[in-house]
Amino acid sequence: MAVGFEQGPIRPPSEAKSLLLRLTRNCPWNQCLFCPVYKKQKFSLRTVEEIKEDIQKARDIADDVKALSWRLGRSGVVDQEVIRHIFSDSAYSESFKSVAAWLYYGEGSCFLQDADNMVMKTRDLVEVLRFLREKFPEITRVTTYGRSRTIVRKSVESMKEIHEAGLDRIHIGMESGCDTVLKMVKKGVTGKQHIEAGRKVMEAGIELSEYIMPGLGGQALWKEHAVDSARVLNAINPHFIRLRSLRVPDRVPLHAKLKDGSFLMQTDDMLAEEIKLFIEHLEGITSTVTSDHIMNLLEEVSGTLPGDKEKMLRVIEKYQALPDTERLIYRVGRRGGAYASTDDLERDPVTYGKIKNLVDDIVEREGMEGVERFITEMVDRYI
Ligand code: SF4
Repeated sequence: MAVGFEQGPIRPPSEAKSLLLRLTRNCPWNQCLFCPVYKKQKFSLRTVEEIKEDIQKARDIADDVKALSWRLGRSGVVDQEVIRHIFSDSAYSESFKSVAAWLYYGEGSCFLQDADNMVMKTRDLVEVLRFLREKFPEITRVTTYGRSRTIVRKSVESMKEIHEAGLDRIHIGMESGCDTVLKMVKKGVTGKQHIEAGRKVMEAGIELSEYIMPGLGGQALWKEHAVDSARVLNAINPHFIRLRSLRVPDRVPLHAKLKDGSFLMQTDDMLAEEIKLFIEHLEGITSTVTSDHIMNLLEEVSGTLPGDKEKMLRVIEKYQALPDTERLIYRVGRRGGAYASTDDLERDPVTYGKIKNLVDDIVEREGMEGVERFITEMVDRYI
């Protein structure tokens, strides 16, 4: 059986069905106060040879999975039967399972880990991408994370070369366009650099996905955070704007500021107002907004600008217009994974009744603070 290859810890939600390959290890910056992912892990580059070996291993595994499918009488197709066989046998490695799942989903996308592959020398990245495309001609889309600060150091020509070698999309964690917020959370980049990097990616013909973090300005800077983030995005017009709300579990450095009172979290209701302000200020762009992260309160704040702007604002207004009890029940249902839309409140009276009883119970025992604690614990499970 083909041997396993290395994979990193995370990928964006939109890459859940992608083949994951690790080009670099961890994060070369690793200082953002809100980020729990690579803390205490040292960044390292991998050699081109090492990465190519991993790509070859993934190829060998993909061929083995298909051969197994033939042996199981499934004509080379990776269907439920093949998946059941692989996942119920502990002899198969995690790499084998992950390639099998990728073939089963059949989307053909590939995500290159970890936090910032743009830090690789252009010629190395190009060599790796060409090799990947040669070994996996069936791959339909190759994406990666990149930091704005790193991308500004590359020329548009280099970015074009990277695109031509096979990179289709870059996910950038912009988080905010507001310099005060970016400095406070040690993002190590300015709004101006975000614009420069974003425009470079767009000019190179690479699809651009910018992540914004509602709540990152806290109660003190929420307005600046919303307005400046929209301003920076307006100057870029990325293909995608993705919302991923701030959470502050005790293992991230920002938690210390939360404890000493120098950072006050936005409540869900404050966040709704913040996101509304943000959407209102998105002007003159054609980006698609998505809230595809489980940590977002209102998943339906999504659509393509400018046409869907009013629709997105209406989703927020609808939440804001709910009576206090309904908003609370929605928040608990959403955080517990039962609700995706405020419409769900009316859709399923049984679930509604269960959540209401649960909320009433907690309020009786621990008061409103208890419900807030309960909601926080549920959301933080996802981090
Ligand atoms: S650049 Fe990204 S991965 Fe690195 S510390 Fe910041 S948020 Fe985390």
